[in-house]
Amino acid sequence: TAATMVATMAACGNAEKSVDKEAASGVTAGALVGITMPTRSSERWIHDGDNLKKQLETLGYKVDLQYAEDDIPTQTQQLDSQITKGAKLLIIASIDGEAITSQLDNAKAAGIKVIAYDRLIRKSPNVDYYATFDNFKVGVQQATSLLIGLKVLNADGTDAGAKGPLNVELFAGSPDDNNATFFFKGAMSVLQPHIDKGTVVVKSGQKDFDTVSTLRWDPATAQKRMENLLTSTYKDGAKVNGVLSPYDGISIGILSALKSGGYGTGSQAYPIVTGQDAELASVKSIIAGEQYSTIYKDTRQLAKVTGEMADAVLKGQTPKTNNATDYDNGVKVVPAQLLESVIVTKDNYEKELVTGGYYTADQLK
Ligand code: BGC
Repeated sequence: TAATMVATMAACGNAEKSVDKEAASGVTAGALVGITMPTRSSERWIHDGDNLKKQLETLGYKVDLQYAEDDIPTQTQQLDSQITKGAKLLIIASIDGEAITSQLDNAKAAGIKVIAYDRLIRKSPNVDYYATFDNFKVGVQQATSLLIGLKVLNADGTDAGAKGPLNVELFAGSPDDNNATFFFKGAMSVLQPHIDKGTVVVKSGQKDFDTVSTLRWDPATAQKRMENLLTSTYKDGAKVNGVLSPYDGISIGILSALKSGGYGTGSQAYPIVTGQDAELASVKSIIAGEQYSTIYKDTRQLAKVTGEMADAVLKGQTPKTNNATDYDNGVKVVPAQLLESVIVTKDNYEKELVTGGYYTADQLK
């Protein structure tokens, strides 16, 4: 009848209206966001996950947050399950940057957007955005702090006129993590001229990324390698003056090998050892005069910018990015938002970490 036709048309009109509204504002409020983090074995990822979840929930989204304890099949299963559950966006801190291609293909087919979190996802076209720190610069900062600690550079970065030779050993992060190469390249850009001059000597001769990398950033692997260096390269009694370490967990492994080798006792001070992440145990170690430096990356800020990025993507808007050139994943250049990191030593930890509210003074006791 005419009456039913009118009613049907009205219903259609309403349906159309609500579809229009959804299209205009992107995905509706309350959409599910899947977050996958690599591991709980390092504090930073726990903070990242918690901060990101809180931020997205405050914006009205539902969140599924998963940790994979550095096991690749676990992470791929978590992604499969988030896709099945109907997530509208995936935020991924990958374990192996090249191991989730088929999950991303499925995400793409289902219209799910993908943000790479902290670590670039490689070899896939299905990565929409990337939120991270300036990873090359992190490496530059690590090497700069190493040279300042060794008194090759002054605190302001100018040449301190040291002649050396100073024995330095190099460690890098996990070869399947794109960040590890960026950190190492950044660090070598600073160290190489001093190696060329002979001020800095890598006594083991181990300078290639592949030789010095540490699978899964594992502290025990790094500890073993440092122990081996001490009993081979340094068995002639020569001393290690500095160690480039890419991550606080690795620094702890290195320091404990050095301790077993007689460093940090009596008149034999620890070498200058760098780090990254301002993890609690390492900041305490810095305060105690063991580890020399760390690179502080405010994960609260990363969670904040990623949350904003996610919100924009889900609303069908273009998120803010500040780098469109550096992060080529092998298939495409992924538009990125990069944050700045800070060198932290005993001299400035209070200002940076306590005044900045990252830790309370009590936590550092
Ligand atoms: C992160 C670092 C961290 C390392 C080990 C890297 O991808 O950027 O902050 O130290 O992974 O967890």
